[in-house]
Amino acid sequence: MRNALTIDVEEYFQAHAYAKIIDRAEWERMPGRVVANVRRLLALFAEHGTRATFFVLGWVADRHPELVREIARAGHEVGSHGYAHQLVDQQGPEEFAADLARSLTAIRRALDEPAGSFGYRAPGFSLTPRTPWALDILRAQGIRYDSSLQPVVTRGGNGAYGASRFATRLDVGLWEFPVSTVPLAGWNCPVAGGAYFRLLPLWVTRRAIERINAEGRPAVVYLHPWELDPEEPDVPDAPLFARARHRLNLSKTEARLRTLLGERAFGPLCEVFAAELGQG
Ligand SMILES: [Zn+2]
Repeated sequence: MRNALTIDVEEYFQAHAYAKIIDRAEWERMPGRVVANVRRLLALFAEHGTRATFFVLGWVADRHPELVREIARAGHEVGSHGYAHQLVDQQGPEEFAADLARSLTAIRRALDEPAGSFGYRAPGFSLTPRTPWALDILRAQGIRYDSSLQPVVTRGGNGAYGASRFATRLDVGLWEFPVSTVPLAGWNCPVAGGAYFRLLPLWVTRRAIERINAEGRPAVVYLHPWELDPEEPDVPDAPLFARARHRLNLSKTEARLRTLLGERAFGPLCEVFAAELGQG
């Protein structure tokens, strides 16, 4: 079974761990690493004949349109990660709609696809029950599918909006492809990406993917380009725990990912869920 591989394309200083101490106004002055890190991923994927979905932050697309084109030229799917990495639940509907529209403009311009329709991944998986209006806005702006609803806040099986652990057609008429979780002691644990992929031993992710595949479903794995960058500059002012969590095992992620890519077949969301998307 082919699983889905997704990358949230952002700079390390835009990550959640640093949101409180690095102001957006400072982003322009920070030494960027996203171009080199994405290229590293592109080379790794080419080596394994793997293609993935890259949810690109509009801020990155505006500054590095050539990078967005490189991603697409290599056969990967491009999606939106919003524009300024603002959490959905910390915005009002108007602010969210403007951020989304700006991100789509940046990606369409970079790809020269004025009418392009794309998938969406919210910053920090911040689509929650507090933001029911966000799904309508995604739909109204022609988003092809969403991959942001993590059913991890609710005890038991299903989470926000009745979203399940698996591909679901939401009431607003939008497909949801959530990142993978496995139920453990009544909780859904997000073991297939990000900090979990770096912090837990590889066999945990491997076992989770096996379990999900045994349920007859593809797993949806996610990572950030900065997670493969042990040379990332330190941000000493960040809160200790957030900083430790952000930086742990940055030197091990590439080797782990390489192992995983050698063991299993991965593809972009639009292909792994082509049948669902074909249903409209
Ligand atoms: Zn992000």
